[in-house]
Amino acid sequence: MHLAAFPRIRLGHFPTPLEFMPNLTRHLDGPNLYIKRDDCTGLASGGNKTRKLEFLAAQALEQGADTLITQGAVQSNHARQTVAAAARLGLKCKILLEQRVAGANEEYEESGNVLLDRLMGGEIVARLPAGSNMQQAMEDLAAELRGAGHKPYVIPGGGSNPVGALGYVGCAQELLNQSFETGVRIDHVVHATGSTGTQAGLVVGLRASNSGIPVYGVSVRAARQQQEENVWKLVQATVDYMGLPAASVERADVVANSDYVGAGYGVPTDSMLEALRLTAGLEAILLDPVYSGKGMAGLIDLIRSGHFKKGENVVFIHTGGSVGLFGYRQALSGQA
Ligand SMILES: *Cc1c(COP(=O)(O)O)cnc(C)c1O
Repeated sequence: MHLAAFPRIRLGHFPTPLEFMPNLTRHLDGPNLYIKRDDCTGLASGGNKTRKLEFLAAQALEQGADTLITQGAVQSNHARQTVAAAARLGLKCKILLEQRVAGANEEYEESGNVLLDRLMGGEIVARLPAGSNMQQAMEDLAAELRGAGHKPYVIPGGGSNPVGALGYVGCAQELLNQSFETGVRIDHVVHATGSTGTQAGLVVGLRASNSGIPVYGVSVRAARQQQEENVWKLVQATVDYMGLPAASVERADVVANSDYVGAGYGVPTDSMLEALRLTAGLEAILLDPVYSGKGMAGLIDLIRSGHFKKGENVVFIHTGGSVGLFGYRQALSGQA
């Protein structure tokens, strides 16, 4: 693999730390728990989209873009990091927000990521109803801008296409280097999976390097079968984009679990709240209510049910999102 062959601009602080979580490990009395701090990527409070945006924004600049367009849920961490990247690069940023979460209150609509979107000069062009064709809405906006003489670059939701997934191929390499340097043998990698770029990149990076380390995605939205299919499609597209042999990856390398979604995307669950409190109270690490909280809820349950075992070393990828906590004050204070 030759990642340096693809244009990339530096936006984040890398490598992110790989840390042991002694207190959570002791509390759960299961495998040794490590955490890869991709919440500390450094771009306006960080998160996993920064790695993807280093490749996406490089392509946008290469194409002479003056405006980034993207979309996400109202509390989208991806939209916030895209606004931040645009600000750093002197580009305009226009975002479309989908009102994907029912019954949202004012804090959800205006605080957390939305507050930061505005602070950094992002323009919220529209808030569209749940289920809108967001990709089409972005294409329409791009056409309108082109008509007015601008050069928009459209980034798909979550930055999840083969270009964005390269960021997590890079993360896999970074993780293997850290494993080598610290002498920590990694037996499993676990993380929250949504728009699939993170999991696809990790699977390609960890498989194409023959590390043999399995990746376990905890879905925050789609049912297992659908999520695995979505990830697998992007795995294949990424392998193709990188010019790797198709046989570098197999369908069986893509494993997702959708038991921890609860009532739906962005809707709090009891196990998510427990995961937030345990990780904050025992390790002073802040997860988020939509992604990493549900991902950690999955990891905790899978430890309690014996899926991950004592003596194994499990790395949880902290994909960020704690800014979103401020959009969920009521749920967190038990008044949901
Ligand atoms: C976007 C996001 C994810 C999911 O990553 P995908 O690449 O979209 O699957 C996980 N955690 C956080 C905090 C995110 O913002």
